[in-house]
Amino acid sequence: MNCVWCHKPRGGVIFPVDGHVCPRCQDPRQREWVRELDQAAHGVLRSTQRDGILWPYGANIEMETRAALLQWAESYGLKMSGSRTRCGTGLHWLDKGQCNWQRCSRDGLPDFFDHTSLWKYRKTGKPALVLNQPYGDVDPRRVDAFLSEYPRLTSEVKQDGWYAYTTTAVYIWNRTNAA
Ligand SMILES: [Zn+2]
Ligand SMILES: [Zn+2]
Repeated sequence: MNCVWCHKPRGGVIFPVDGHVCPRCQDPRQREWVRELDQAAHGVLRSTQRDGILWPYGANIEMETRAALLQWAESYGLKMSGSRTRCGTGLHWLDKGQCNWQRCSRDGLPDFFDHTSLWKYRKTGKPALVLNQPYGDVDPRRVDAFLSEYPRLTSEVKQDGWYAYTTTAVYIWNRTNAA
């Protein structure tokens, strides 16, 4: 995506009023906001020396999504899972803390598995949540039915996710790990 000021593809992020502005063209207030949210994301998201904060899809390109994600994570006491789980569905990781399936893939998952992210409880460091944020409505009964094989996991369907305003937040919790 090109910067609205220099029209060059120099990275950067989308601001509410200006649109996509590259790091070089950001004004001091924009730069400060980026820095502020990066700082707030430490302990919530993973980071690397080279790339800084690893914002998940959506938040990687949009400031308002970054702000919404941080507020959301704070209110639920969550941090993004740092474990490089090979669990394709996230559910084995969530249920047992690990995935022992030779080939765990997302094949055959219901369509509400979209924009999936994995979260841990800050307090215990244990698997807390598989969050899906699909577009459109999701019938909570479909989520419940899908989870029938996982007696420890519970579900919630809400509208309070961070990905985008038109998405539904489908929560799959392992509350036994909360304390
Ligand atoms: Zn620019
Ligand atoms: Zn798995």
